[in-house]
Amino acid sequence: MPSFGKGIKSGPTVANVLITKRETRLDLSVHKKPNHSDRYLRYDSYNHPIVKNSVAYSLVDRAFLVGSSDFELKAELDYIRDVLIGNGYPQKVIDKVIFRRKMSGITKNFAPKIEDDKPFLSLPYIKGITAILSSKLTKLGFKVFFPSGRTISSFLNKGKDKITSDPPGVYEIPCSCGDTYIGRTMRPLNHRLKEHADSIDACLKKTKLKEEDNFSALAHHIFENPSHSINFDQAQLIAIVPQLLKQKIREALEIAKNKPAINKDNGEFHISEIWEPITHKLKTHKKLHPFPKGPISLRSTRTAAINASAKIRAMAQQ
Ligand SMILES: [Zn+2]
Repeated sequence: MPSFGKGIKSGPTVANVLITKRETRLDLSVHKKPNHSDRYLRYDSYNHPIVKNSVAYSLVDRAFLVGSSDFELKAELDYIRDVLIGNGYPQKVIDKVIFRRKMSGITKNFAPKIEDDKPFLSLPYIKGITAILSSKLTKLGFKVFFPSGRTISSFLNKGKDKITSDPPGVYEIPCSCGDTYIGRTMRPLNHRLKEHADSIDACLKKTKLKEEDNFSALAHHIFENPSHSINFDQAQLIAIVPQLLKQKIREALEIAKNKPAINKDNGEFHISEIWEPITHKLKTHKKLHPFPKGPISLRSTRTAAINASAKIRAMAQQ
């Protein structure tokens, strides 16, 4: 047990609550580390107003919940006013938040209302659009969240060297005819290209393709156009995306945007047509990561295609 001397003395802190002994009682107040920067999400930052207001609400709520006396509460609210004004918050916004919390009768038994039966949706903040969209979605029964924007730290290196020399992502492979194929891989691009090449080789050994053969779209393209050749040496990673779900979404978006003629489907992730008008805004990084010169065999393509073509013609004449 911590011991206290006579008179006022600050004692221990528990979960950011400072316990202070006065003559006959223990007072609770919000503990702030001496080196606290007093910096919060600025009011003039590009974030949804709800996100910025939530900063004020969380500070004010904590003051009401922790302060054990009117004296402690007033001191904390004065501190919050100063700090929020220092972070660009208008006085009337701060006063409104404090007034609302006073009127709501917030007590120590206060617990946030959890509406977990509603589906959640997280919307990025776009001024003028997000407010309209979130109001319509709320009416449709969604619980809408607004993540705060990217911070400087989110752009900085996390100390882990995640980008390998052959990272996973979305790639594009051109054919000699000018058509392209867009695919995705969680493994090194080299491995995936070799699988495509093997699929083309296996496909060209057939005289007729059956549905169950399961050859890649590239193999089908070469089978149907034996004089074409796939330019594996010009394959590019057009987006480095190591996370599986994000990669599937990116693949579908790149297909929706670039409409590669060789692809037989739109990828594994369905992108609604309503996004079509804005898919062109997606930045496709051509030459982001050129084909890594590795041990891949390029024995497929033109030679195999020409041989197969001759074989097919010979068989057809028999
Ligand atoms: Zn072609």
